[in-house]
Amino acid sequence: MKIKRLKKVQKNLSFFVNNYKFRKPYQILIDGTFSFAALQNKFNIKEQLAKYFQADVKLLTTQCIIVETEKLGHKVYGAMLIVKQFPIHQCGHEKNTVTGSKCLRSMVGSNNESRYVIATQDRLLQEQLKKIPGVPIMYLHGRTPTLEAPSQKSREFAEQIRSKVTMTDMQEERIKSLKEQFGLKSDITMQPKKKHKKSGPNPLSCKRSQKKESNSMIHTSEHKVNESGKVRKRKRIKLPAHVKEVLKLNTHS
Ligand SMILES: [Zn+2]
Repeated sequence: MKIKRLKKVQKNLSFFVNNYKFRKPYQILIDGTFSFAALQNKFNIKEQLAKYFQADVKLLTTQCIIVETEKLGHKVYGAMLIVKQFPIHQCGHEKNTVTGSKCLRSMVGSNNESRYVIATQDRLLQEQLKKIPGVPIMYLHGRTPTLEAPSQKSREFAEQIRSKVTMTDMQEERIKSLKEQFGLKSDITMQPKKKHKKSGPNPLSCKRSQKKESNSMIHTSEHKVNESGKVRKRKRIKLPAHVKEVLKLNTHS
């Protein structure tokens, strides 16, 4: 059972790590109701939550939550003592404190930018927090801590982000393939190669004649042909155009 439960926590946690950039140490905001349930069930918050998350956790509370438990009097005296153990996180209501649930809602805001895990037994608050994407909610089920599975809102919003990312990826791919279709990429790579080829032949054309002369049997036969008709030799020698014209003029005159 225990291993199964820990796997479930890790699965739910990794959802928030992967989709909402939650990082260790996880910040857990603890309210009066959670402290009250912990006291009733003899649940050691500090020890047990670190074990449950298998990570360093920062347990925090707010001035509003402390004041609320103080106001509730002797019935929640023990819970108040527990809450007061935790470092007080600034909530902005220090001058005019609000109810614990209102305080936590404002801490989370519209997108839980500071990435709090909210530990509360308050069902109404839980329902409200489920409507905000990226808010992990935990509560005590008897002595068993439970990190709720990501809310529908959290899952939908994460899916939206993912689909946006894949859309831009697809667009990039499309642009790439279009570039290739229009030969924008291949032009850049091909042109220098062509240039090399073009620049090559000119000096090589001169060498070719040398090679042919120094090479095998074919050349001897060529030589024979050449010897028989001198016209061929003339053709082989590449004369500049202006020289050719002058020669032509000379032969005509
Ligand atoms: Zn507050």
